[in-house]
Amino acid sequence: NKTGYRNFPMVPRVVFGQGSFAQLGDILMPKRRNSNAPFIFLVDDFFEKNEVTLCMPLMYNDKVFFISANEEPKTGQVDTLVSKIQEEFEELPSGIIGIGGGTLLDLAKAVAILLNNNGLAQDYQGWDLVSKPSLYHVGIPTISGTGAEVSRTTVLLGPEKKLGINSDFTTYDQVVLDPDLTKSVPKEQWFYTGMDCFIHCIESLKGTYLNAFSQSYGEKALELCKEVFLEDVPSSESRDKLMMASWHGGMSIAYSQVGIAHAMSYGLSYLLGIKHGIGNCLVFQHLEEFYPEGVQVFHKMMEKHNIQLPKGVCADLTENDFDILINVALGMEALWENALGKDWKEIMTPERLKGIYQRI
Ligand code: NAD
Ligand code: ZN
Repeated sequence: NKTGYRNFPMVPRVVFGQGSFAQLGDILMPKRRNSNAPFIFLVDDFFEKNEVTLCMPLMYNDKVFFISANEEPKTGQVDTLVSKIQEEFEELPSGIIGIGGGTLLDLAKAVAILLNNNGLAQDYQGWDLVSKPSLYHVGIPTISGTGAEVSRTTVLLGPEKKLGINSDFTTYDQVVLDPDLTKSVPKEQWFYTGMDCFIHCIESLKGTYLNAFSQSYGEKALELCKEVFLEDVPSSESRDKLMMASWHGGMSIAYSQVGIAHAMSYGLSYLLGIKHGIGNCLVFQHLEEFYPEGVQVFHKMMEKHNIQLPKGVCADLTENDFDILINVALGMEALWENALGKDWKEIMTPERLKGIYQRI
């Protein structure tokens, strides 16, 4: 490869439309290998505890695991699920279906990889360490914003690091985009996960890695985010738009990178367990020096939807805590290079970074 352009996979099949979830049974049918090879459904436990009907097309010995999204996915959690599935069924499943937000979408991707690759999930955290194709897997988002439904990574908290399994086999084989599934998302969560998409756009469009491929997706996603969060009233139309914004935002970063908010939010997640969406918002509000227009629009959106972010999150941290935050964040080299250019280390010193964390 003389030029070094990345040759990355895309989701080969996607259904979009209100109520399209009802087609899942037909989509899975030709992928059923035999009656002993089940489909395993990994579903956000919101759909177990609440009266929201999700009529899953179960057949034969298909199995549903309801899983909490209260904590971000962990490598150990993936390993446990994989062993359970291997112990319970004689045959490899026909496939894995992930239904939920970024947490469940990432879990399902990782389980599909590990069912066809030996070892532990932590062995594959990094870039292109997966050697064999994953099991057939289907992603069905129930909240919009992360872009996990299109991305070639699954972000996992491991024993030593929070890092994605980035590989050509991570990407879903099939995605079902049914905006009706997002009807029940509470307002604050809608905002935080939606802002993940908005921040993907800003970080991609303002980054030094920008190219026409990323720009074309990023601009569309940004336009949709502005309509959804500044103009529209919540409606079926705005749910449609946000679902497509998430898709385009994910596509935009596929061929570029995210930036400062993501690097810093990884630190907050690693040290304090703060979730991705809200973590990005906590950081992004203080990044006016780096993303002046984006931060201004963000404040307008917060105001319009009356969102109050927690304050004093880093107030009681020790020096050692700050060192951890700074190390995790500065470890994300590509993100900083994208945001600030090749000389990023001279621009973002540990002291300056600490100053931003102290404001959170
Ligand atoms: P999430 O999956 O963590 O869910 C957030 C909350 O929303 C949970 O309480 C969940 O139960 C609830 N929820 C989801 N759908 C709902 C519905 N329809 N109705 C009511 N409640 C619902 O949220 P998220 O922000 O989508 O995902 C965050 C995760 O995504 C993080 O772990 C992050 O690392 C990951 N992520 C991955 C990628 C990627 O490319 N793989 C990109 C960005 C973020
Ligand atoms: Zn993100």
